[in-house]
Amino acid sequence: MNVMDLLYGELASFLSQAIVVVMVALMFVISLRLFLDRRKKGYMSMTISLVFVALQYILQLYLTVRGIHSSLTDYAQHMLKIISFVLINMGIYQLYNRTSRKQYIFFYGLIIMGFVVSVLHFSVPSLYNGTEQQVRLLQDIGLELYVFVLIFLCFYMIPPYIGQQLKYQLALTIYFFYQSIHLVNAYMYGDVQPVLTFADNLLPILFYFLLFMLLFERVVELMQAIYNSSITDGLTRLYNRKFFYNRVSQHVQRHLPVYILFSDIDNFKKLNDTQGHQMGDNVLKQVAQIMKDEAEECGIAGRYGGEEMVVMVSDPSVKMDAFAERIRSRIEKETIVTASIGYSKYKNGLSAEELIKQADEAMYRAKTTGKNKVVKFS
Ligand code: GH3
Ligand code: MG
Ligand code: MG
Repeated sequence: MNVMDLLYGELASFLSQAIVVVMVALMFVISLRLFLDRRKKGYMSMTISLVFVALQYILQLYLTVRGIHSSLTDYAQHMLKIISFVLINMGIYQLYNRTSRKQYIFFYGLIIMGFVVSVLHFSVPSLYNGTEQQVRLLQDIGLELYVFVLIFLCFYMIPPYIGQQLKYQLALTIYFFYQSIHLVNAYMYGDVQPVLTFADNLLPILFYFLLFMLLFERVVELMQAIYNSSITDGLTRLYNRKFFYNRVSQHVQRHLPVYILFSDIDNFKKLNDTQGHQMGDNVLKQVAQIMKDEAEECGIAGRYGGEEMVVMVSDPSVKMDAFAERIRSRIEKETIVTASIGYSKYKNGLSAEELIKQADEAMYRAKTTGKNKVVKFS
């Protein structure tokens, strides 16, 4: 064994294929896990597509090891390559989308077209009189060129519908170069040009590595989305009560100087009754947005109950009275409702619950003394 062998000999192509098989196996485990967890069709086609990619590469490995090379195995490899390429792109599409019948027709149509093109494989020997080698190369030229059609279709049709578009297009670009180099090497140099052979072995590794990263990032995205929805309120996107309370507890336990602001929309029931629940929801969202804006740089905002929103201010330099007044006046100016606001300051010995309760009490005092005002707990 020498370095040449490792870079572009038989050993190189064996290594390249083995590395791809390992990456595909890892992707298979991830997508199977996703599918078993969530039972969504999208993860199923990703899983199935990886089985086809694995089949393609295992067959290739087997043929490389046994040194088998015939017209029929060429054909099987080309067809598997086309089927797995289409399926894996469909799998990526489905990681981000529900698939309707139209998309299934599109993807399966591409595979069927592959079979149509492959008719050429069986008709060339009777149409063309050449050496065995020439005939064999010509037989699969249709399928080889068809791969380019697939690359271009995927490159332009899929990205608008998925995340990580650049990564995906980069992967397809690499595949495009892989396919081009593969063709030039096979048809012009008879598979022996060292630099091209090296690229022919390296590019699939890069391609599958990018796909692996794409799938991995998607899993992280999904986990992040699940986590986010578990700590936020669906309507207002503010933190939910549990998360807010935990955050306050953490600060209180460390005796950090925090303020709690408690706000309650005035006469909200009446708004719901006169203008409808939908309108009520919209107003809630507007008020929540104001809370979020104002809390952004100095703390966190949460939804404590129906139309009760809270802010924990953890920046000690904030002038609390002005801060609360700004929120109150923005609500008055920017929405069709007003709010009553109370706030309280953390003192040693208070629990998170007591601190929030004090702010609530101050808010209640604002309610009973005229509403649409700010009251400090004392
Ligand atoms: P006050 O000025 O004393 O606070 O009067 P109020 O009507 O705002 O007080 P009350 O607590 O009686 O009413 C709160 C109302 O908020 C009751 C409920 O219909 C409404 N509400 C709670 N959650 C939601 C929500 O998610 N969407 C909508 N549209 N309304 C909600
Ligand atoms: Mg209320
Ligand atoms: Mg209210």
